[in-house]
Amino acid sequence: MSGMDSISPEEIDRAYEKYKKDAVAGGYNINPDAEFTKNLISGLLVNQSRYGYPTCPCRLAMGNKGDDLDIICPCDYRDGDVVKYGACYCALYISQAALEGRQPLQSIPESRPPRAERKKREAPAVDLNWNRLTLPVWRCKVCGYLCARDGPPEVCPICKAKKERFERFI
Ligand code: SF4
Repeated sequence: MSGMDSISPEEIDRAYEKYKKDAVAGGYNINPDAEFTKNLISGLLVNQSRYGYPTCPCRLAMGNKGDDLDIICPCDYRDGDVVKYGACYCALYISQAALEGRQPLQSIPESRPPRAERKKREAPAVDLNWNRLTLPVWRCKVCGYLCARDGPPEVCPICKAKKERFERFI
């Protein structure tokens, strides 16, 4: 690991508190195992310093934002995996049922499709020629939040994903 990648324990603690706060504010839970979670957050910070954006610590990034966008944490697969398996692929986020011990945590399969398939899916989710609308509708690819406004918000108010994770829905 290069010097650039060494992250101080204070930075990890600060980021950990922020992830915790944002998760609660958005109705999510981060893994209550603080040591495990801080390890993942340290991986996110390393990736942030390496690539300029925090890619998933459990997946291999390409180092090119266009290819990595769907695995910038929170990834596009988080919500589906939390519902289905009780946790995201890394188990940084877990379901309420898993938190309360009602949903046993198992190993989580990779939900990210292969690259060729991802490229095919880049087409907008719907293609309506709906000219009654006076404003475009934007959809957060992470949590599905929709809003009608001139442009996507800087940060998703629900899951805190950045503007670049929005797609034009209608
Ligand atoms: S939400 Fe996605 S990107 Fe973030 S830690 Fe979990 S699996 Fe990785």
